[in-house]
Parts: sequence; structure tokens; C-alpha cells
Amino acid sequence: MDKVQSLSKTSKELMLKEPYYGYFLIMLNKMWRKDLPTAGVSKNGINYQLAINEEFWMSLSEDHKLGLLKHELLHIAFGHLTTYFIFSDHRMANIAMDMEINQYIDRSWLPGAEFDHEQFKALKEAVIKEYKQTPKLILIKTNEQPYM
Ligand SMILES: [Zn+2]
Repeated sequence: MDKVQSLSKTSKELMLKEPYYGYFLIMLNKMWRKDLPTAGVSKNGINYQLAINEEFWMSLSEDHKLGLLKHELLHIAFGHLTTYFIFSDHRMANIAMDMEINQYIDRSWLPGAEFDHEQFKALKEAVIKEYKQTPKLILIKTNEQPYM
């Protein structure tokens, strides 16, 4: 199965399990990008666009493909693409928005479901440490930058 068939299969599966997301999938422009490490959504005229790294997509399990697709669609559903620019710290806003939407995704569809409490705590501390060491991003208003 190639990448296009795989994305089509996952989209159909998500729509059968959770029809609400069909509303977003039907208007979504999908594209493959090698310069993107994972995947992201961005504005595309009056609609939205999903960009995915092929290697990343093909490396995911079927459950994690469903989780990734639902994650990206939830960014659209929650209006994140039209509100993130109001926050001065774009990176922190991205982390908060990811935490918000991941609560709506079954744990088995997300990476790290196998983590126990201690492993999750260590991961959380590593993310906070990395965040504190990274200089704040300068906010640039653009429709081109995918939202991960
Ligand atoms: Zn995200």
C-alpha cells in the first residue's frame, strides 16, 4: 500500500469511527512534504491544508495514523489556526493547544500510551527543560507555516 492509499484508508476509518471528522476531511487539501519532520495543518485560502512527511507517516502504526489525523483535524476544529497568533509565545501556545486536543484522542492512538507514570513524568520534565533552553520564537504572521 502506498502513502496515498494509506492516508485514504486511515481517513475512511476515522470517518467510520467518528463521522464528525468527515466534515473537515472533505475540504482538506492534502500534500506530502519532505522538508517537514512530521505533519501539520495550515490555512489554505478559505480552507485548510494538511502536509505530511511521507517517511514519518509510513513509520506509524495504524492506530497512530488515526491519532495523528485526528490530532491535526482537531487543531482545525478548535480554531487554533485562526487564534494562535494572538499569543506572544507561539511555542508555548502550541504546547498548550496540543495538550488540549490530545485529551480528546484515545491514548492507544497516541505515542507514549505504553509509558507508566514515572516515564511520563521524566518525559514531561525533559520537554520543560528543552523548552526553557530554547530561545523564544519571534512571531511571524504567515499562512505558509504548518501548525504541528
Ligand atoms: Zn499539534
